Amino acid sequence: MLKQVEINHKYRKFVDNHNRWAKDLRDSGTSLESIGEVTTQETGRARRFLTGCRRSAVFVGQVALALLILMWVKTALLFRRRRRPDLYQAADEYVGEFVEQYPFHLYPILAKSMELAFLRDLLGKSTKPGEPVLELAIGEGTLSSRVFAKTDQVIGVDLSPYSLVKSTNMPHVSKAIVGDCLDPPILPGSFELLVSNNFLHHITEKDDVVARWSKLARRMFFNENTTYWASGWTAPFLFKKLGFRSKSRDRATSIEEYHAQSLRSREELDSIVSKHCQVDDCVSYLSERTFFLCSLFSSLMRCYGPPTPTECKEFAFGGRLRSGMTRSLTSAVARALLAYDVYQDRSRDVFVSYCCTSKNYSPSGKTQPLACPNCRVELTEENYCPPCGKEFRTTDGMLFLLDAKLDRWEHEYDSEFAAAIVKKAHL
Ligand SMILES: [Zn+2]
Repeated sequence: MLKQVEINHKYRKFVDNHNRWAKDLRDSGTSLESIGEVTTQETGRARRFLTGCRRSAVFVGQVALALLILMWVKTALLFRRRRRPDLYQAADEYVGEFVEQYPFHLYPILAKSMELAFLRDLLGKSTKPGEPVLELAIGEGTLSSRVFAKTDQVIGVDLSPYSLVKSTNMPHVSKAIVGDCLDPPILPGSFELLVSNNFLHHITEKDDVVARWSKLARRMFFNENTTYWASGWTAPFLFKKLGFRSKSRDRATSIEEYHAQSLRSREELDSIVSKHCQVDDCVSYLSERTFFLCSLFSSLMRCYGPPTPTECKEFAFGGRLRSGMTRSLTSAVARALLAYDVYQDRSRDVFVSYCCTSKNYSPSGKTQPLACPNCRVELTEENYCPPCGKEFRTTDGMLFLLDAKLDRWEHEYDSEFAAAIVKKAHL
């Protein structure tokens, strides 16, 4: 079992490291744009691996693998004529949106296309124009920007200002708050709608967190990963197929721990959610087998999280021939795998999306939703907390609503460094 608040430890380390790197660069008189060393551990591993001829070999491997899987899946689907469920049909249309972001990186393409199809279908029926929406763990806002229209008013919360800063210029984000998503600085009963994508699977104390969230909003949309997220990766899946069950379990556990995931069975997840919410709609997708086929590409890149290593993207889209091949092959394999997933065992699905109505919601009647993270009382319009006398600051369009343990980030956060990171990401 993972330690409590494990994902916050990871985020705190991430932000502390960025603050320290910015300070070190300033102290040494180096340009803040020299952020080559600022990289996640995963991307760093991928960068070291993907050098020189190895990078080309990985690309050739990806192309060969794509052709092989395409042939195999097309053959498997030859005599299957079942009509695809509406969600899969909608997801098929979104594949193209994610190919640019994740070339030859199949699992995020498939998962996010399905997630987007679910959200666009049901959110459209749930939101009223101009009604504020609370999005927890909004991150850089890339998925959020695909879900919400420019006219929507999303209040986005994330613990990492270096991620959140990218979402502040998005037209649908009306307010960006640096805050703890496990216990958001929000007054209970403040929102009609709460959305959180790709976050709960990191949380060990799911019961407590869903209970807290259910007090904040009347309706909630969120998703989860089941235990098959770990067992569907290449090594655990193959070990299990070859009969090495214990080795398969060990590898799955180490992958789960390394990626700060806290995975439960579908039954356990349903039970936790049902305790605090009435589930109005729920759908699961990408069976363990489909996920395994996707994972082969990620394993080739030595990349286990959603972000595709920059080097892979640069190489895959470098030159007209390579970029054309990358786009067409990635789209074709992703669409074939979506069609393939329709026929797989739904009891072994990796992802599940929930649309719920809270059992613990009671409208606050207050005019604004923000609470002091220390005292939990309503803030004034100037973001001032009368009981503790703290005035919370806004930097780069982000309101830092952090408790006493982390409020040093208000001063340690480096705007220029954050701007350099954003600029580098867009190069
Ligand atoms: Zn206070």
